[in-house]
Amino acid sequence: MGIWSFGSSGDPLFLEPFWMQHSTSSALVVSGWHRMSYSFNDNTLISQHLESLIRKLHAFVGNAVTQDRYIVFGAGSTQVLSAAAYALSLANSSSSHSPTRVVASVPYYALYKQQVEYFNSAKFKYEGDAHTWRNRSESDASTNVIEFVTSPNNPDGLLNKAVLHGPNVKTIYDRAYYWPHFTPIPAPADEDLTVFTLSKLTGHAGSRFGWAVVKDETVFNKMVLHMQVNSIGVSKDTQLRAFKLLKAILEEGTQIFDFAYQTMKSRWERLATTLSSSNRFSLQKINPQYCFFYNKVRESSPAYAWVKCEKEEDKDCYAVLKAANIIGRKGNVFGSEDNYVRLSLVRSQDDFDILIQRLQKLVSEEDGAI
Ligand code: PMP
Repeated sequence: MGIWSFGSSGDPLFLEPFWMQHSTSSALVVSGWHRMSYSFNDNTLISQHLESLIRKLHAFVGNAVTQDRYIVFGAGSTQVLSAAAYALSLANSSSSHSPTRVVASVPYYALYKQQVEYFNSAKFKYEGDAHTWRNRSESDASTNVIEFVTSPNNPDGLLNKAVLHGPNVKTIYDRAYYWPHFTPIPAPADEDLTVFTLSKLTGHAGSRFGWAVVKDETVFNKMVLHMQVNSIGVSKDTQLRAFKLLKAILEEGTQIFDFAYQTMKSRWERLATTLSSSNRFSLQKINPQYCFFYNKVRESSPAYAWVKCEKEEDKDCYAVLKAANIIGRKGNVFGSEDNYVRLSLVRSQDDFDILIQRLQKLVSEEDGAI
């Protein structure tokens, strides 16, 4: 098994009840003869209607600047992230023969490493924790670097910023979770290359739709070329589905955000209460911030709990939780220590209720628990 497993995944089914309440406005019927061509009527592989809805949505939420920016689509942000890495390594490599160094700060989302290692291209080498390259990369201008910055971060929900800077450093911002569901929105993202996904916005992970907002035209063209060579663009059925969903969202004002934020907030309250009497398990702490979407200071409500087993004898935190029938994802998957485990909080309500029950039992069995 690779990094991916059903049991602990971030499958965002917590949004299913929202779509049950909006089943008519989001429904789609496609006749057999519709949309058979590779391309749209204007001969492109990208629906201009969908692109303009994406720009409207970012303007409404205030989570990304899209004016004077290019937008490229992919099969989930997974494909967009690899296209971005290829585009930036091509942009980089003219002055250098050594492979582009790919880094991300620990704890990092495992896919970046897995993509580099699996595709095994001569262009890249995964070099682990961004922090360990801080002084070296900035002084060694002959080697190109790509830093993935996940903000909010998977697994710990922090609004990470780039660690490395310099003329030889390119940054890819993965903003899969930069929606009011999961975090305050302190400012619109305004980076060279920012990646978003439908998966964590609407919950439609299975539709496989993601996009990047890109400043530089050359990088954009390289990403488009990558998509053409890789898959001749994103399924038109998927683009139609994404269009319908985003249209339904925009017609309802703040509704989906209110639903998602309230659901995540109440899950966090239950989780924090459950672990409040524990000396054995602790949760990540994130400072509240001003959110320009809700016009107030608010707490984060991340997609994952980054649980730490505090006791020396519990250094395999995954095993401790597994013994209580709680399946998380091991710390070392994220380049971290195994006294950490990531628990997914975005699954269905039943899944979450069972998680809380099992945690309650585990905490009640602790020595000296109140
Ligand atoms: N980036 C991050 C940080 C993620 O957590 C995920 C999914 N778990 C992805 C990218 C990929 O999601 P998708 O391909 O469904 O867009």
